[in-house]
Amino acid sequence: MSVPHYGNHINGEWVDNGQVLEVRSPATGELVATVAKGGVAEIDAAVAAAKAAHAEGTWRNTAPADRAALINAVAADLGGRLEELAALQSRENGATIRVTGALHVGLSIANMQFIAAQAAEYEFEKAGPEIGPVPAEGILRREPLGVVAAIVPWNIPLLTIVWKVTPALAAGNTVVLKPDEHAPLLALELAKAFQAAGLPKGVLNVVVGEGHDAGARLSQHPDVRKVGFTGSTEVGKSILGASADNMKRVTLELGGKGPNILLDDADLDVAIDGAIYACMANNGEACEAGTRLLVPSSRKDEIVERLVARVSTMRIGDPLDLATDIGPLITADQRDRVLAHIAKAETQGAKVAVGGGAPEGAEFAHGYFVEPTVLTDVTPDMTVACEEVFGPVLSVLTYDTVEEAIAIANDTEYGLSAGVWGTDETRVLDVARQLEAGMVYVNDWHVLHPAYPFGGYKQSGLGREGGPNALDAYTEQKYISVDRSGGVENKAYALVLG
Ligand code: NAD
Repeated sequence: MSVPHYGNHINGEWVDNGQVLEVRSPATGELVATVAKGGVAEIDAAVAAAKAAHAEGTWRNTAPADRAALINAVAADLGGRLEELAALQSRENGATIRVTGALHVGLSIANMQFIAAQAAEYEFEKAGPEIGPVPAEGILRREPLGVVAAIVPWNIPLLTIVWKVTPALAAGNTVVLKPDEHAPLLALELAKAFQAAGLPKGVLNVVVGEGHDAGARLSQHPDVRKVGFTGSTEVGKSILGASADNMKRVTLELGGKGPNILLDDADLDVAIDGAIYACMANNGEACEAGTRLLVPSSRKDEIVERLVARVSTMRIGDPLDLATDIGPLITADQRDRVLAHIAKAETQGAKVAVGGGAPEGAEFAHGYFVEPTVLTDVTPDMTVACEEVFGPVLSVLTYDTVEEAIAIANDTEYGLSAGVWGTDETRVLDVARQLEAGMVYVNDWHVLHPAYPFGGYKQSGLGREGGPNALDAYTEQKYISVDRSGGVENKAYALVLG
């Protein structure tokens, strides 16, 4: 059977260059699509197209309400194809169909609609407060930055794209998007949808390529005014460094090591499932996963017993099957990295309570599966408690006092997400307020909503995406003072010239 092929999308054209990437299912090895592989030349062409489109000005001079209407049209198109796109995402990166439907595609559409509504209302220009005593009046403007780069990972591609591309376009910028080469298909489908909706050529360009090559060129390009990046903290630092040359604006969404605190009055009937969901949704390949479960020493045995019982019922397998809880990891390397983390944790003194290996059986033979795993006896100094694992591996740590739990939770260079479970709301909120994280979930997890900002403290990032100020990060502020008095009185220049 023939599989679809996608070129790179540059200046409104679909461009091939003779180099082809194969996108294969991490569950079966099946060929899902082929994609033109871009490099420095394609990035340069895409940035030139975006720069020319910005200079030409059609998009930035389109009324904000019309820009919002176009974004809404694309959101509606994606909504009509939700099942098809969710299945494509599951085939491409192994996230289960329940997660790709609700989170990858569903939440992306909700974010597009929210940001479009914001754009229609956004004050791109307004009168400022009275200036006095000089006889000028002030105007406050928000203007697009120009060429914006969006660089995203493979784990939740569409949502991380939408958080950048939608506010960038809503504010009138032009964009070069570089998805990860392992999961570029929804980026390309999004570009198709924008083209079909009538976005002018050159306004949204997509180049699929590798990080060290296409990604590095894009983040260093002198004509790029802003980089929105989601990915590892290590690459985030190199992007921040590369931004210095021409003072690019940057928004960084990086790694995490989410602490999830079960207080001693937590209702285990909800907290056990919640803790598993916090860690293992999206196969554990989530930056804001709750990977460190902090439990009171006095309740450890009961909690571990219940975790093991529940995890043992989880179904690993075909990500397209609605009954599947855990799909494959993205690559063989990623599977091996996760298994190595488990092995290292054991050598450092942790115990595997359930899982711990790759599942056996013919249905797993061609995929990169790891069993959902619970590690106990984890201490804060162990590697598994400090580094991102990016797989379905939950580490259980114990504490004796709430103060100790908060100290362990905050003792990390990450600060993306955190959670607290308990039935005394005053105490739960008191703990939540003390946690150093951009998102704190009380009695649930992954409660992402377009109206709330997403991003991290410390080395989990810089800036926020989505939320009420989504467009601010894609606009430059300008202040214009206008002296309409016609006279010489109270002029600012009198300060110097007398
Ligand atoms: P990664 O940093 O290796 O890659 C992310 C993107 O950056 C890819 O498109 C890649 O091609 C590109 N890239 C790689 N090297 C580059 C370079 N030198 N210059 C420019 N671009 C480069 O990340 P990954 O391992 O593929 O993805 C997983 C990481 O993403 C995890 O650390 C995870 O926590 C993080 N993540 C963060 C968020 C968030 O919002 N905070 C969301 C999802 C994933």
